Amino acid sequence: MKEKFETNSNSNVLFVTENCNNNCIMCCQPPKRCNDFNYCFEQNIKLIKTAPRDVKTVCITGGEPTLAGDNFFKLIELVRENLPETEIHILTTDVILPI
Ligand code: SF4
Repeated sequence: MKEKFETNSNSNVLFVTENCNNNCIMCCQPPKRCNDFNYCFEQNIKLIKTAPRDVKTVCITGGEPTLAGDNFFKLIELVRENLPETEIHILTTDVILPI
């Protein structure tokens, strides 16, 4: 995990969890069952709060990021509040309807 976001990088990632409810044969990081949600959430808050305002993109990923429940939506809100012009990419197998 990066310790800081970079303005023009395509690899600014918010890693939400190693847990996943899929078992894709091509997975390069097979899911783990672990309670890493709070740790990752705290790390992600630091990344968002220290990010340059002109970061082009942020990717929210895991594992399956929606397994973080309310904290998944809080992360999206935090990115939008702190980085209003930044594109948010979400790597998920769940369907997310537009808000
Ligand atoms: S959804 Fe992603 S993290 Fe989960 S098993 Fe598939 S490739 Fe791996």
